[in-house]
Amino acid sequence: MTIAGLLRHERPTLSYELFPPRTPAAEETLRATMKVLADTHPDFMSITYGASGTTRSTSRGVVQMLAEAHTIPPLAHLTCVDQSRDELITVIEEYLEEGVLDFLALRGDPPQGTPDWRPHPDGLLYASQLVSLVHEVARAHGVSDICVGVAAFPATHAMERWRQSAIDVMRFKERAGAQFAITQVFYEVEQYTALVEDALAHGVTMPIIPEVMPIVSTRRAVRASELTGVPTPVELVAALEAAESDDAARAAGVAHAARLSRELLDAGAPGIHIITFNQSAAALELVEAMGLRAS
Ligand code: FAD
Repeated sequence: MTIAGLLRHERPTLSYELFPPRTPAAEETLRATMKVLADTHPDFMSITYGASGTTRSTSRGVVQMLAEAHTIPPLAHLTCVDQSRDELITVIEEYLEEGVLDFLALRGDPPQGTPDWRPHPDGLLYASQLVSLVHEVARAHGVSDICVGVAAFPATHAMERWRQSAIDVMRFKERAGAQFAITQVFYEVEQYTALVEDALAHGVTMPIIPEVMPIVSTRRAVRASELTGVPTPVELVAALEAAESDDAARAAGVAHAARLSRELLDAGAPGIHIITFNQSAAALELVEAMGLRAS
C-alpha cells in the first residue's frame, strides 16, 4: 500500500527520515540504526537525496537496502537541482524498476557557497514540476499505483509576508498530483494547525504529516537552525545548555519533541515523521514517550 493509502486509515503513521552515509563507518551505523528502527514497525522510512553533499547513487543504495533487508516501504526523496529533465527521468525509471512506489518531490537547495549558482538549463525549476514528471514517467511505464508527496513549511507560513505564497505553492503542488506533504521542522503546534486550516480554506486537502526532530545537543540545535532557518526555541537551548551529561541533554531534547508530538496528534496530525540523523536512541525514546508504536 502506498503512503496515500496508509493515510486514509484512522491510525496515525510512524515514519523516520534517514540520510545516505558518506563513509563505510557511517554505513555501518546506518545499517544498525535501520535494524533497530525496523523493530518499531514504522509505516515507511524516507531517504534524503543530494542533501548536504551526499551522493545520489548512495541514496538509491539505501532505498534498496531498506526495501530488501527490512521490507519497509521506502519513501525516496528526489530533488530538481543540478539535474536535467532526462537525468531525473532516468532516476525515476530506476526507482520504478526497483519497485519504489512512494516519492517525495522537492526542489532541493543550491549547493552552499555558490552565489553564482544557476538552475540546470534543461532542468526543472520547481517541485511541482517534479511532481508532474514523476506521474508522467510512471504513466509511461504503466505503473498506476504510485504516490507523490511534497514539502510544506509551517514556520514560513507563520510569517505574514510569506503566508499567501506558502499556500499558493501548496496548491500548485496538489494540482500537479501531490497526495501528501511532510513539513519542515517547527516547534509550535499552532504553526501546524494554522497551515492545515489555511490550506483547507484554500481548497488544499492533502494530508500534512509533521516532521519532528529530537534535538539532543546544543551543536545539533545550531546545525538545525542553520539548515532550516527555523530558530531553536530558547527554552530548549537553555535545557540543553543546563544538561550535565549527554544522556541528560538527550532526555531534555526527547521530552521537548515528545510534548510537541503529542500536541500534534491531539490536534489531528495524520502521523509523525521523525528525523533521526541516522541514530536510533533519541528516535526510539521519542516513539516510546509518544506511545506511538505502529502495529
Ligand atoms: P518549491 O516548491 O519548488 O519551492 C521553492 C521556491 O520556489 C519557494 O520559494 C517557492 O515559494 C517558489 N515557488 C514554487 N513554485 C513556484 C511557482 N510556480 N512560481 C513561482 N515561485 C514558485 N533538500 C534536499 O536537497 N534533499 C532532500 O532530500 C530534502 N528533503 C526534504 C524533506 C522535507 C520534508 C523538507 C521540508 C525539505 C527537504 N529538503 C531537501 C529541502 C528542500 O529541498 C528545500 O527546503 C527547498 O528550498 C524547497 O523545496 P520545495 O520542494 O518546497 O521547493
